[in-house]
Amino acid sequence: MSTSTLTIDLNALVANWRALDALSGEGTETAAVVKADGYGLGAARVAKALAKAGAKRFFVAVAEEGAALRDALGPTPEINVFSGHMAGDTDMIGDMTLTPMINSLDQLTRHIEALPNAPFGIQLDTGMNRLGMEASEWAAVANVALSQNITLVMSHLACADEPDHPMNAFQLQNFKDMTQGIDVKRSLAATGGTLLGKDYHFDLTRPGVGLYGGAPFSAAKPVAYLSLPVIQTRDLVEGEAVGYGNAWIAKRPSKIATVSAGYADGLIRAMGSGISVYFGDQKVPVVGRVSMDLITVDITDLHETPRALDILNSAQTVEHLASAAGTIGYEILTNMGARYTRRYAG
Ligand SMILES: *Cc1c(COP(=O)(O)O)cnc(C)c1O
Repeated sequence: MSTSTLTIDLNALVANWRALDALSGEGTETAAVVKADGYGLGAARVAKALAKAGAKRFFVAVAEEGAALRDALGPTPEINVFSGHMAGDTDMIGDMTLTPMINSLDQLTRHIEALPNAPFGIQLDTGMNRLGMEASEWAAVANVALSQNITLVMSHLACADEPDHPMNAFQLQNFKDMTQGIDVKRSLAATGGTLLGKDYHFDLTRPGVGLYGGAPFSAAKPVAYLSLPVIQTRDLVEGEAVGYGNAWIAKRPSKIATVSAGYADGLIRAMGSGISVYFGDQKVPVVGRVSMDLITVDITDLHETPRALDILNSAQTVEHLASAAGTIGYEILTNMGARYTRRYAG
């Protein structure tokens, strides 16, 4: 293999979906969020595997993603669009049978006028101040919305990855107040909210990152495995430098391997040398700066010259790369390089 290979373990993905599903009771459906091309792992393949495992409802960010997903999944699963009904999206929403999560009075009017009887959901803002109707706007349009083909009322938690954060209970109460007595399915929890317990589950949970092996779902199985081919090796004498800025200097005679992947592939430069790669179980330090297309590693202690080295495996996950870079697993996942060969296992 001359290119770097991203292997997506679909069995682990399905196991993560089932594990999250098992956290909520019988009456709660577990959907799957596959926006941003399935968090970088391939929305079509990911969604097909989850549909086969029993997922009936998927969420994407924008209508274009929904249209592509409809092509992959066929007519049956429900595809919900977080950005709602944007100007220009009407044909796609109608033709591809997408369900927009309506965020404002403007969107509601557009939807009802352009596609009467077409299903929609409502997104409520319970305190995040990002998307959705605020309480006063919702109060003004609720009767109209509830008389139409409304299939879901949802909101999103801002601090669900911090279980003790007072914002969780505050948003939960706001959501209850805003949806009290309505006869429509309700959804509040993404991955973090699913982990907060049954008060947060309502009729439907919408996990994303946990499906793909990311925090805050600490029990998740890793889903992404990344193997980088070695392009070249060289032997250094003590005192020689490696890479841009001479950022690493050999303190002993050293053997350096240059592997094929860099910050243009999502191995962001801020990871620096805080990460390792693996030759089987053996940990090998990354040295010097991450270049656009290349990373250099110190293989002095290996007994053979590897043809490839693993940067994501069960020992080093997206969360390890994220913390080395001062970011979150979501960003590592969604930046997985377009140049990687994607392989699906399971
Ligand atoms: C991205 C997103 C989700 C999924 O969130 P995770 O933290 O990845 O589980 C759910 N709901 C909304 C509104 C989102 O934007």
